[in-house]
Amino acid sequence: MSLHIPFDNSYARLPSRFYTRQSPVPVREPELVAFNDGLAKELGMRTGSEVERALVFSGNRVPDGAEPLAQVYAGHQFGGFSPQLGDGRANLLGEAVVGQQRYDIQLKGSGPTPYSRMGDGRAWLGPVLREYVVSEAMHAMGIPTSRALAATLTGEQVYRETGALPGAILTRVAASHIRVGTFQYFAARRDLPALEALFAYVVERHYPGIESPDALLDAVIDRQARLIAQWMSVGFIHGVMNTDNTTLSGETIDYGPCAFLDVYHPDTVFSSIDAHGRYAYSNQSNVIVWNMAQLATSLVPLMPDQDQAVEVFTKSVHAMPEKLQAAWLELFGRKIGLAQTANADEPMIAELLQVMAEGRADFTNTFRALSDGKARDQFLDPNIFDAWETGWRTRIEQEEDPVSVMRAANPAYIPRNHRIEQMIQAAVAGDFAPFERLNTVLTTPFEVQEGAADLTYPPEPSEVVQQTFC
Ligand code: AMP
Ligand code: MG
Ligand code: MG
Repeated sequence: MSLHIPFDNSYARLPSRFYTRQSPVPVREPELVAFNDGLAKELGMRTGSEVERALVFSGNRVPDGAEPLAQVYAGHQFGGFSPQLGDGRANLLGEAVVGQQRYDIQLKGSGPTPYSRMGDGRAWLGPVLREYVVSEAMHAMGIPTSRALAATLTGEQVYRETGALPGAILTRVAASHIRVGTFQYFAARRDLPALEALFAYVVERHYPGIESPDALLDAVIDRQARLIAQWMSVGFIHGVMNTDNTTLSGETIDYGPCAFLDVYHPDTVFSSIDAHGRYAYSNQSNVIVWNMAQLATSLVPLMPDQDQAVEVFTKSVHAMPEKLQAAWLELFGRKIGLAQTANADEPMIAELLQVMAEGRADFTNTFRALSDGKARDQFLDPNIFDAWETGWRTRIEQEEDPVSVMRAANPAYIPRNHRIEQMIQAAVAGDFAPFERLNTVLTTPFEVQEGAADLTYPPEPSEVVQQTFC
């Protein structure tokens, strides 16, 4: 039975100024290197033969029912507004519809489009495999995210700072790829009919029942507040929180130079393109509020009374830090074993983070070790942990089952940067075993797995990844 995806392409039915119809550019020698059978099943897909999958997920064959297009959007990149961006190296094949749910199926690295600017429209194997592993790990940790369906090699080389690299394509699946920048694109053009169409589309697809732009803003703020708190609770740094990488659906998208904390420090930055730390670990909760203010700005024209709109939206945006704080408190409370966290518990969490930063403690392993009574071993100077521990032990005496709460909130395994780098190097040399192993272990990140202890180790000094590139 040949490959089949149940396409129904609602985005392609929007006005033509929302996108450019554009097919993937065929590649020389497609080779399937990863395929997510579980996700394919969820998509109601018939997977066909490996040869077919290689053709379809490299862009060499457009599957039946697909209507490939490149989406247009705008966005603030590191704070500066670009009035026109768009899928410069991606093609939306269409949407798989399963029951009530609609999933974008998008090829990334599939060739130039009218939005490529100076880019080559391609991706190389490293970032493709990084996104594959990290997005699937995020999903396994219960964090809303785009997913990875397939990775192919193109048999072509791409040229980056470091020289010639193997070209690759990622097939990603998302609730949608509508961004704050999609609204900004039409708002910047004062294209009210397009803004109205986009608003109606987003409501129908993601927020059924919502009737007004201010209600939509509040709903997106709720989802984004929770999402960023979830990132922070696992030590995730997105790296490029531009408004074109912030979704309306509330899912994480666009994994570029993303990375996880090893040693905890709030100012940690990995991205090679983030010289000033705009998207540092702890600044993510400020940046998302700024991004929501940009969404608010682009929704203003949809409101009947513009002055009143500004007032209402300002209130919504100003309410976001409190929502973020509430989500953060709940999630970090669980990380220290509190089923229900009161505001009075906040200083205890803040203090733990403080001593972790001072003691150069590993973020993931310290939280995980709390439930084994071994957290003090994570500190350069364990004495600074002991004082905190005394107060904490008293507090969790009131809890029914703090160990279970902690084990469900603190992953034993995360995709550590040095492991990702090692996995990429192996794959470039033709060995995909480390990639497959990482994927397998990270499918159940909260369960201790036999023979996987090495994946919990922080990097040796020689293994530390200082910078990540996309
Ligand atoms: P990003 O920072 O990954 O969100 O990308 C910003 C913009 O640059 C998006 O519009 C991308 O489609 C585009 N882009 C990134 N890399 C390339 C590339 N190699 N070729 C063409 N466009 C690209
Ligand atoms: Mg992007
Ligand atoms: Mg990107």
